[in-house]
Amino acid sequence: MLFGRKDRKPIKIADKGVVDWKYTTCGYCSTGCSIQVGLNAEGKAVTSRGTPNADVNRGKICIKGIFEHEIFDAEGRGDLPQVRDKFYDDYKTTDWDTALDTMADKIKEVQDKHGRDSFAIVSTGQLLTEEFYTLGKLVRGCIGTNNYDGNTTLCMASAVSGYKRSFGSDGPPGCYDDFENTDCLIAWGSNLPEQHPIIYWRMKEAQEKRKFPLIVVDPRVTMLAQFADIHLPISPGTDVVLLNALMHVILDEGLEDRDYINAHTQGIEALEEEVKSWDPVSASKVCGIDEDTIRNVARLYAKAGAAMSIWTMGINQSTHGSDGVVNINNMNLITGNIGKPGGTSLSITGQCNAMGTREWSSCSGLPGYRYLEKPEDREFIADYWGIDSDFFPEKRGLAETDIFPAIETGQIKGLWLVATNPMTSMPNTPRIRKALEKLDFLVVQDAYADVETTQYAHMFLPAAVWAEKEGCFTNTERRVNLVRPVMPPKGNNKADFWIFKELAKRFPNGEKIHFPDTAAEAFEEMAELSKGDGRTLNISGMTHEKLEEARGIQWPFKEGVDGLKGEPRLYTDGVFQTASGKANLIALPFVDNNERPDEDYPYWLNSGRVVEHFHTRTKTGKIGNLNKYSPTPYMEMNPDAAREQGIEHMSYVRLVSRRGDSVVMVQLTQRIPYDMVFIPFHFFDCVNRVSLGLLDPHSRQPAFKQCAVRVEKVDQAEAGRLNVERRNF
Ligand code: SF4
Repeated sequence: MLFGRKDRKPIKIADKGVVDWKYTTCGYCSTGCSIQVGLNAEGKAVTSRGTPNADVNRGKICIKGIFEHEIFDAEGRGDLPQVRDKFYDDYKTTDWDTALDTMADKIKEVQDKHGRDSFAIVSTGQLLTEEFYTLGKLVRGCIGTNNYDGNTTLCMASAVSGYKRSFGSDGPPGCYDDFENTDCLIAWGSNLPEQHPIIYWRMKEAQEKRKFPLIVVDPRVTMLAQFADIHLPISPGTDVVLLNALMHVILDEGLEDRDYINAHTQGIEALEEEVKSWDPVSASKVCGIDEDTIRNVARLYAKAGAAMSIWTMGINQSTHGSDGVVNINNMNLITGNIGKPGGTSLSITGQCNAMGTREWSSCSGLPGYRYLEKPEDREFIADYWGIDSDFFPEKRGLAETDIFPAIETGQIKGLWLVATNPMTSMPNTPRIRKALEKLDFLVVQDAYADVETTQYAHMFLPAAVWAEKEGCFTNTERRVNLVRPVMPPKGNNKADFWIFKELAKRFPNGEKIHFPDTAAEAFEEMAELSKGDGRTLNISGMTHEKLEEARGIQWPFKEGVDGLKGEPRLYTDGVFQTASGKANLIALPFVDNNERPDEDYPYWLNSGRVVEHFHTRTKTGKIGNLNKYSPTPYMEMNPDAAREQGIEHMSYVRLVSRRGDSVVMVQLTQRIPYDMVFIPFHFFDCVNRVSLGLLDPHSRQPAFKQCAVRVEKVDQAEAGRLNVERRNF
C-alpha cells in the first residue's frame, strides 16, 4: 500500500499501435546501444526500446534513446539545397544537381586561385562509417586538400594521440566487460551517469556484485563522484602531477610489475627519474590532493589483482590532454594492467561514431589507421583506389582548431562543414564568428537548416539524419554495430553517402575511383582494406548481415573466424604496434600554462554535459521531453561564493572573461568548489563566448575546462529578454 491508498491504479503502458520493429543503433553517445524503433500501421515512428539480447545495453536505453524516434519529425529540418552570393543575402532554393555543380565549381575556383589546400573540410563524429570512408575518398582522392579534419579534435584527439604515443596505434584496448573483472577502478574526469548512462549502468551493476573500490578524480562533486568510495577533488589541469605522484609511490614501494615492465615496455629509466621528484608531499601542493590519500590510492591500484582507468573530457580537454592519457597508460603499464580482463586504459569516447571517423575517415591519414607519412601506405591506398600516390600529401594538414586561425590569416579561403556546428562548439566563438565572415565560400551540410552556423554560409545542403540512412557505428569498446534505415530521408534531404558520391563525379579523379552505390558495398571495400598480418583494426570477417545478427561485433574480427564474437581486448600478448613491439613509457614533466584565476577573474570556468542534452542541441533541443529539463543556459555556483557577491539562486548573472561575456541563470550548489563555476556546454551563445581553449601541443585539442572568469550582476528584465531570444536556437 502506498501512503494508505487501497486501490492503487495499475501502471498502463500506452498502446502505440506498433506493427513493426526496426533494428538500429543509437545515434547519440558512443555507448553504442542497440535500439528498436516501433512503426505504426501508417509507417510513422512512434516509440523506441532497447534490444533485449544486445550485449552492450541488454534491453536498456537512456532518456535520449527513449525519445530518439521523435527526431524524424523534429522541427528545423531542411528540404532542398539553399544558395546565396553573400552570407548576408537571402537564401534561394535550388535543386541538387545545380547545388553540387556550383559547389564543385566554387571549390575548384578557390583552389585554382589560392592552391589546393586553401579549401578546408571539417567533418564530424556523427556520420556512418561508410560515409566517413566515402568522404575520405572524395577529399584525399578527388578534391586533394590536406586541410581536412573532424570535430573529434574537440573531444577525442588527446585520447588518439596518447594511445599512439604509448602503444604505437590508436584503438581503446579494453571493453565494458572489464568492469565485471576489475578489482579497482579510477574514473578520471568522467561523469558516466550523465555522459554515458548505459555504460554507467554496466559499471554500477558490476560494482554492486563485486564491490571493487571506485575512485573518482574530478574538481566537481559530479553524480559519479557522489557514488565514489574515494573522491579526489583535483585542482584543474594537474592530473599529470597526480599521476606522477601515484607512480612515485608505486615505484618507491616496489609495487610495480617488474616482469611486465621488462618484457613489454621501453623507457622505464626516464620515467623513474621524472617521478622521483613528485613525492606525495610536493605533488599535493600542486594537485590539491593530500599526501596520505595519494599513497592510499596508489597502493589500492597497484595491489589490486586487476585495475582499470577510464576517462573522458576531464583528461582530454586540457592543454596537456595527450600527456594525461600517456600518463594513465604509463601507470597501467608499470602495474601490468593492459590487455588483461579488468586491467585496462579505456577512453570513453564521445559521439556515436567518433571511433568510425578515427578508423576510416582519412582525416589524420589514410583509411584503416594508415599514415600519410608512410610511403608504403600511400602507395597501397592509391593503388587500391586507382590513382597516382603523388596526389596524396606526405603528412597530415591542419587540425580543426588550426583551420580557423588559418582563415584569419588568409591561408584558408573556402570551408565545408559536415554535421558540425562550430558557432556553438568551438572555444572563443566571437573569434570563430569573425573567421566565418571572412570566407569566400562556406558550405554547411547538416540535417538541420536552423543550425547556428548556416547564418554565415553561402550554401546549405540538407542531409538525411541517423536512421534515415544505412551503415555502421563503432562504439567505445571497438564494437561495430549496424544502423538500418527506419524511415526514408525526409522530403528532398539526401544521405551524406549520396552527396559525397555525387560530388566526386564532378572532379577528374572521380572518374578513376570507384564509388559504390550502397553502404554494404562500401563496407566490403573497408573489410578488404583491413586485412593484413598484425593489423589490430581488422574487420575482414564482418558483413552488415553478421553485425545485425550479432547485435554488434568487436574488432579485430578476421575472416575465417568461427562464430560472431570479435576480440574483446587488444594487446593481450603484450605485443604493441610500435617498431620494437614494446609499449613506450614516457616521462612527463608538468607544464603549467593555463590561464588561472586572479583578482580580476577569480573563478575557474568548467564545462560539461548534462544527460538530457547532446552536443549543441541540434537534435535534443527540439525534442520536447528532453529540452524541458534544462531549456535555459545555467551556471552552477558555490553558495558561499555567491553570498559574498549578493547573488541569489535562480537569478541571471553576466559571466565575463578576457574573450567575451555571457548571460546565464545561477544554480547554487555545493557540488562546485568555492573558486569554480560550471556551465553545460550545449547552449548557443553561452559558455564558448568566454572560453579560451588553449591547444594541446600533441593533439591540438582545446582546453575547454580551464580558464578564468568573473561573475557580475545584471538587469534581470533585460537578461530575461535575452534568454528568450536565444532560446529560438
Ligand atoms: S547511453 Fe548513449 S547510446 Fe545508449 S541510449 Fe543513451 S545516448 Fe543512446
